[in-house]
Order: sequence, then C-alpha cells, then structure tokens
Amino acid sequence: MTTVIDGNAVASDLRDRLTGRIDDLATEGVTPTLATVLMSDDPASETYVSMKQSDCEEVGIATRDVEIDPDAPAERLFDTLDDLNSDPEVDGVLVQMPTPDQVADSEVIRRLDPMKDVDGFHPENVGLLVRGDPRYKPCTPHGVQHLLDHAGVETEGADVVIVGRSNIVGKPLANMLLQKTAGGNATVTVCHSRTDDLAAHTGRADIVVAAAGVPELVDGSMLAEDSVVIDVGVNRVETEDGSTLVGDVAFDSASELASAITPVPGGVGPMTRAMLLYNTVKAAHLRRDLAFDGL
Ligand code: NAD
Repeated sequence: MTTVIDGNAVASDLRDRLTGRIDDLATEGVTPTLATVLMSDDPASETYVSMKQSDCEEVGIATRDVEIDPDAPAERLFDTLDDLNSDPEVDGVLVQMPTPDQVADSEVIRRLDPMKDVDGFHPENVGLLVRGDPRYKPCTPHGVQHLLDHAGVETEGADVVIVGRSNIVGKPLANMLLQKTAGGNATVTVCHSRTDDLAAHTGRADIVVAAAGVPELVDGSMLAEDSVVIDVGVNRVETEDGSTLVGDVAFDSASELASAITPVPGGVGPMTRAMLLYNTVKAAHLRRDLAFDGL
C-alpha cells in the first residue's frame, strides 16, 4: 500500500505552529516583516510574489511590497537592497528571481545582508549550511527534509539519490542529508544531466528525490520496490484541453513500486511556501537575539 504524502496538510500544520510563535513575538512588540522585491513584469513572477505576500498575511507576518521597473539600471535594485538591509523593521528580504539581464543574480545574492537572506542563498549562509551549522536552510530542500521527517522516513544510513544539482535544490539538499544530525546521516548520491545510467542509481535507492525539471523523468521501472519518492519538479505541459502541471516523476507507475510518494501539485510546493514563513520568523528572532529552537 503506497502512502501519498500530503504536503498541504504538513504545510498547514507548520503554518499553525508558526502562527503561535508570531503571537508570542507580538507580546514582545515584534511583528516579523518580509520585504519582497520584484524587478520583472513576467506574470508568473508577479503571481509568485503575490502568493508569498498572502501567505505572510495569513500567519501575521507583515510585508513590504517593492516593485522596480524591469528596465531600470542594476544600481536601482542595489540601492533598494541597501535601504532594506539598513531598515531595522525589515527581518527578511526576498528578491524574486530571475532578475533582468542587466542584473546578475549572483551580485544580488551577495548584496543582501546575510541575516535577512531568508532564501538562504548568500555565500555566508551556504557556507554555514555546508559546515553543518545552518542559519537559514533554503526553502525547497528544507521542505523536503521536513516532509521526510513528518512521514516517518528514516534518513540515517539510507541510500538517497537526488536527481538534479542546482544551487537552490539538489546541492543544498545533498548537504543537509549528509549532516551528522537528525534528518541527516544519509549516504547521498547526486545525479545530473551528465550522469551515465540514471536508472542504475535510482534503482538501488531507498529514497529518490527528483529535481531535474524534466516531466516524468523518473518512472516505476527506475525504482526499487518500497522506495520513498519525493517529486520536486513542477513542469507545465501541453494537453489536448490546454495545459497541466506534472512533476519529474511518472506518478502512476512510480506509485506501484513506492512505499510513499509526493504528488504534484500538493507535495513539495506547499512546503517551500511554508518554509519561507519559517525562515522569516527565524530571522525575526535571530536579529533580536531571541532564542529560536525550531518548531
Ligand atoms: P535547474 O534547471 O536549475 O536544475 C535542474 C538540474 O537537473 C540540473 O542540475 C541538471 O543537471 C539536472 N537534469 C536535467 N536533466 C536531467 C536528466 N535528464 N537527468 C538527470 N539530471 C538532469 O532546476 P531547479 O531550479 O533545481 O528546479 C528543478 C525542478 O524543480 C523544476 O521543475 C522546478 O520548477 C522545480 N522546483 C520546484 C519547487 C517547489 O517548490 N516545488 C522549487 C524549486 C524548483
């Protein structure tokens, strides 16, 4: 019997607990505040930003909504970041990626105050994560780790195969699962577009995490019986009636083998959104030297 891991339910539980923490902060006169910065007129980016803002409002996080003309020079964005970095009321700053061609994403990430880097992409935060002393875990891999924990999946000693080596998913997740901590201690293999014989790796894994951005790349024939399958992919594909979202895993065939699997949508996606709230609440604590020992 395959368990379908309900990311919406786990994320909702996390949001409830965060709301409790935010209420506690309110008694100390603190309202966690997230600034979102959008320098794009791409409708998908606009939608992502407004979803993040409404997620914040729902749990009691205040938002600042900063929009910059996509044709403006890079300095306009950097000046905005400097202002937000020095604003004592702002706890977290999120720059919606991608930025326009005249702005290098890597420079944007470096310009942020690492204490306000709630995406966890600043080199200082990446370094802390790799060393095993994370400040802000990047939202998607943190969501995957939390889902595994919530589903009662033991990572210690498990063979984990991650498909994808991006800086926002594959690489940080590999580092998190390697650490000598609860939710870590796994033996991790990272596969990518140059991997020879992907199925040979996924086929011997206890846990497969697919984060390649290739629709239905991993199917049941590539999995071991009773493996746990986490599908990070979100791909829009054309259908006869329009389009639909599919993951990087062929859900039906994978479900026949897997002991547990996440759906798309309703698996990792809601966890990513919840973890941005988590990092913002954590930032509100850290910036005021208040203890934050997780949830
Ligand atoms: P990316 O394009 O930056 O990286 C994709 C990785 O997959 C690369 O390392 C590449 O080497 C690897 N890859 C590509 N084709 C492959 C193949 N045939 N075999 C093996 N490896 C292959 O993508 P990303 O930003 O890491 O995102 C990956 C997917 O996850 C996308 O579908 C994205 O939309 C989705 N995503 C979802 C969430 C969420 O919250 N659910 C968050 C971030 C990304």
